Amino acid sequence: MKYISTRTPQKAYNLRETAFLGLAPDGGLFIPECIPQVSLDVVRALSADSYNALAIYLAELFFGGELSPGQIEQAIDRAYGFSPRLATLAEGLHTLELFHGPTFAFKDFGARFMGALFGLLNDTGRELVILTATSGDTGSAVAGGFYGVPGVKVVLLYPAGRVSPLQESQMTTLGGNIFPLQVDGSFDDCQRMAKAVFSDTAFCRERGITSANSINILRWIPQSFYYFYGWHLWRQATDSKEAPVIAVPSGNYGNLSAGMLAVRMGLPVKRLVAASNANDVIPEFLRTGDFRPRESVRTVANAMDVGNPSNFERMMALCGADFHRLWSGVGGFSASDDEIRRAIGEIWKMYGYLSDPHSAVGYLAMKSSGMGKGFWLSTAHEAKFREVLQESLPAGAMPQELPPALAERLRLPRKYGEAAADAGSLKEYLTTL
Ligand SMILES: *Cc1c(COP(=O)(O)O)cnc(C)c1O
Repeated sequence: MKYISTRTPQKAYNLRETAFLGLAPDGGLFIPECIPQVSLDVVRALSADSYNALAIYLAELFFGGELSPGQIEQAIDRAYGFSPRLATLAEGLHTLELFHGPTFAFKDFGARFMGALFGLLNDTGRELVILTATSGDTGSAVAGGFYGVPGVKVVLLYPAGRVSPLQESQMTTLGGNIFPLQVDGSFDDCQRMAKAVFSDTAFCRERGITSANSINILRWIPQSFYYFYGWHLWRQATDSKEAPVIAVPSGNYGNLSAGMLAVRMGLPVKRLVAASNANDVIPEFLRTGDFRPRESVRTVANAMDVGNPSNFERMMALCGADFHRLWSGVGGFSASDDEIRRAIGEIWKMYGYLSDPHSAVGYLAMKSSGMGKGFWLSTAHEAKFREVLQESLPAGAMPQELPPALAERLRLPRKYGEAAADAGSLKEYLTTL
């Protein structure tokens, strides 16, 4: 399987190049040169067995040319000791919970797969350094995904005092090959520092520095796998022969564009719904045909606070830049902070179910789609967003206990380096690593 850029489709790259480059040299995003087709009978049979069995089949369709079946199986088993679950809140009301991984958010599905494959693909005999700037969630997923991967060191830049104690403890309590670096500045400073390092290509080549950005093909492709599994679980739960509507809480649109990839691979879906918060660039585009990226605004669903979604290019490329095809296959929805808080309260009151703010947007989108039956994706465990739940739930409804795995992390000692908010001090740090 070869990969091409969304901008210059004439040039093809192999898997190693694609994975280690992250972003295509022309600034575009990588997509597969041709989209493999699934057998739905096989999808059903394997899903009935286990998530990993299904993921191995789907991963082989993409990576079977480069990796042996044994390697793929080993990578999937290393990545996934957990699987998506379908929760039924009431008859006809279903959500696919994607937060049962170690960092309690769906990013585990992409980050852990990438970690497992990076180890296999790095046959240079040289150590790689993965540099990532994070505002919290990505850092914890990447740290978990690459923890213990041989030949890889991970440097995480995060803004001092601006990530939650839970996020910080997920990044700073692993040790080993994970090197968190607390930056005396904002998330934007962290991103600027990382960009400055990446733009010094000679320095990066010399030291084997690469990124684990969310647009990396190794994080993106495995996000298409759980759509198939969710489809199977939903059909089983509902006895439905119809294609479902699937609502996807979205920010940078990696998740939703992976859903589009699943559709192109042959998954029957009636409609994908782009569920956004006040950062509604894509729903607006679907309504008006104008793509107007802008500064993001802060919301209670902050992992979706993206004003210029990188994966827009992938979405367009996946429908052959055919707007009509995109419009008929994808619907848009956006919710205000008040609507999100009210939805969290409503879901608890009516169904006794706790929802995090991001997943609550999916619930609202599903309810308002009017397109028929289906499910929404739940992207994070509610325990990660306790402050918002506290504001949204009636007194006494808030669970007192954190899940044991999270509570335990909070008790462990945190270890991190410290850096001033300038690229020079980051380079110095990387030199001594
Ligand atoms: C990252 C994230 C999202 C947004 O996913 P995209 O792929 O960027 O659209 C939604 N919910 C949670 C909890 C997230 O961490």
